Amino acid sequence: MSSPMFEKIALIGIGLIGGSIALDARKRGLAKSIVAATRSAETAATANRLKLVDHCGTDLAAAAKDADLVIVCTPVGACGPATKAIAASLKPGCIVSDVGSVKQTVIADMAPHIPAGVHFIPAHPVAGTENSGPEAAILDLFQGRYCILTPLPDGDAAAADRLEAFWKALGSEVNRLDPANHDRILAITSHLPHLIAYTIVGTADDLGGHLNSEVLKYAAGGFRDFTRIAASDPTMWRDVFLANKEAVLEMLGTFTEDLAKLTRAIRRGDGEALFDHFTRTRAIRRGIVEIGQDSAAPDFGRPHAALKKP
Ligand code: NAP
Repeated sequence: MSSPMFEKIALIGIGLIGGSIALDARKRGLAKSIVAATRSAETAATANRLKLVDHCGTDLAAAAKDADLVIVCTPVGACGPATKAIAASLKPGCIVSDVGSVKQTVIADMAPHIPAGVHFIPAHPVAGTENSGPEAAILDLFQGRYCILTPLPDGDAAAADRLEAFWKALGSEVNRLDPANHDRILAITSHLPHLIAYTIVGTADDLGGHLNSEVLKYAAGGFRDFTRIAASDPTMWRDVFLANKEAVLEMLGTFTEDLAKLTRAIRRGDGEALFDHFTRTRAIRRGIVEIGQDSAAPDFGRPHAALKKP
């Protein structure tokens, strides 16, 4: 039997992403041992009960000791402090990575704590769900999904290649991007859609009275998808918007201008402008299906419980 890719993997933070990495790495035999550490004893107990890792505790430094791959899987705002907490126990030659949805701020927060001789390779698996915590961990979460590495210019090339091999072994397609580029792309493809979902669900909730309950009743008409996204973890997304402030504000500015154009078309009864815009966006959707990022199957949503046949 061939030897595993790593002797010891340590996950700092074990929620949806850390837990899923643990399940996938174990399934594929990528490490002799996989341990984790998290902030609360309660989350550690859940991770142990679910047997996500060999052991999960609350001592971050103890988990990182002797590991040859450490992945920080906390919300982005906690990446810097978590790296500071483990810095002294990192062994020379070890790879430290993360899974943060924002790269420039996380790099600025983590890099100063990385000791000489330890290789810091930032990463972002573009995969997830609206659920969080260890119980949300799922097998094969990263299968067929992109993982973006944003190696630093003076980083160790061999370590980046090892981390790339790790993510490929989890089934991901690995791409490399400049951190600033990553943050601008994710601002429009992920962060802004979440902001819009958080806004529209709040707006609907504020309608009040009978309209409010009708909105919930007829949620299948597009609104349902927004509510799923708007159920995403408040801590994680608070941190994302604080950390990717500039890129999000830039994209939000452009979005607001475009929304104003559509608003004007509706007000003026300019059907041609609306039709042209919707035709263009329909072609973009078809392009996404063609490159395999989603299915073309119609999504009618789950039937409402009250409408289900006995
Ligand atoms: P999660 O399910 O909420 O898990 C977060 C974990 O981090 C928990 O174990 C939590 O521990 C721990 N943690 C929080 N603050 C900490 C601190 N100060 N020190 C130590 N541990 C701390 O979050 P997630 O969805 O896995 O997201 C983790 C990271 O992945 C985030 O940076 C996010 O940007 C990124 N990401 C998320 C997704 C997604 O769809 N969710 C996709 C790609 C990347 P306690 O429970 O003990 O507090």
